[in-house]
Amino acid sequence: TSLRQLGDRMPKSDRADLLATIEEEASRLSSFVSNLLDMTRLEAGALDIRRDWVDVGDAVRGAVARTAKIFPQRRVAISLDDGLPFVRADAALLEQVLFNLLDNAHKYSPPESVTRIAARLTANGALRITVTDDGIGIPQEALGKVFGKFYRVAGGDGRAPGTGLGLSIAAALVSAMGGTIAATSPAANGKGTEFAILLPTHETGLDPTSNPMATA
Ligand code: ADP
Repeated sequence: TSLRQLGDRMPKSDRADLLATIEEEASRLSSFVSNLLDMTRLEAGALDIRRDWVDVGDAVRGAVARTAKIFPQRRVAISLDDGLPFVRADAALLEQVLFNLLDNAHKYSPPESVTRIAARLTANGALRITVTDDGIGIPQEALGKVFGKFYRVAGGDGRAPGTGLGLSIAAALVSAMGGTIAATSPAANGKGTEFAILLPTHETGLDPTSNPMATA
């Protein structure tokens, strides 16, 4: 029997449960569709990527705030070095990338654990942003594959909903902004995962041949 057929005759708690399910499914569908759209636009070259000078602190705080709407109970520790230079990036898309990483960190780690996001300058003047969790980790053999389209680790946390598109979109966006992204697992204390993004700053310049990975 459905909510539509029974309406007010259905017990209030059952109605609330059904509505919560509808809400969850709707938000799942909506994130699925927006992921697919982003990917399609990226592949069609139809995504307009701005290259402004962006305050990375703003992008970090924006992404954390957005994540908190979806995971209100979860804790995130932010650590930003003083005097970080601006990065050449698209503010909205950088926030999107960080949101994807924070979303994953929460999805694949226990609810009581703390997700960390940090930004610092590397020795050769690139900006390094890391998102680190104490979660289930990524098996060695899957580390190189997680940025592939639709790839999800087999036997990973099956309860966590997802499309396998978030990281491939993140990688495409970072590369469009002239940066790189890589995953390390275990991250710390033999568990968890760390995603590290390197972006050029005005100190590294925009020389495409300079490799910010070199002394990172
Ligand atoms: P999904 O929608 O499945 O989360 P992503 O492209 O964002 O898709 O990630 C691909 C896969 O990489 C995930 O299905 C998961 O198996 C693994 N993964 C991503 N982030 C993490 C993380 N922080 N910890 C453990 N596994 C992760």
